Amino acid sequence: MKVKVVANILEANDRIAAENRKKFEEAGVFVMNVMSGPGAGKTSLLEKTIQELSGKVKIGVIEGDIAGADDAERIDKLGIPVVQINTGGGCHLDANMITDVLEDLPPLKELDLLIIENVGNLVCPAEFKLGEDMKVMLLSVAEGHDKPLKYPLMFQESSALILNKIDLLPYTDADIGKMRKDSLSLNPNLKIFEVSCKTGQGITEWTNWVQTLVK
Ligand code: MG
Repeated sequence: MKVKVVANILEANDRIAAENRKKFEEAGVFVMNVMSGPGAGKTSLLEKTIQELSGKVKIGVIEGDIAGADDAERIDKLGIPVVQINTGGGCHLDANMITDVLEDLPPLKELDLLIIENVGNLVCPAEFKLGEDMKVMLLSVAEGHDKPLKYPLMFQESSALILNKIDLLPYTDADIGKMRKDSLSLNPNLKIFEVSCKTGQGITEWTNWVQTLVK
């Protein structure tokens, strides 16, 4: 019985995600769903991405958090249209939450790229489609090299993996070779970037790739 209920929730979500997808396609906006555990650097990546693509790509942002508007305020400071969703305890965004806030952004056809920052969580966000073109995940090297095999779904669902805080590598026991190898064993098509949002290392390689995806 429990399994059936969960299946129905996901099915209902998929239907709404498909409606979002249609809106995004009609507007010609590329939508990226950014996922990670808490503290891996999602908002910092967004800030760096926005700064690097400034004047080249018109960006809008949806921020997802359990509570608070700190992240939306950080994006707002960069002059980018942003809307904050508070899930009030929910550990992920769902398609309906996205539908609800679209009217609080500029018309989608005025945007080239819509970035959705999901709630920090390595499990549930990967299960819920939002209507995005692609999922991207961040893993900071400080989180340890055991994460891909422990949380496989997020790695399987993502098109790109960004290994953040690469500047901290010498201070951790993380084996980045194992991180890469295990991630690719789960998803051979995963595009992997090594970056530091603090020093800026690797950010241009990432944003150059993003630019090739955005029309
Ligand atoms: Mg954040």
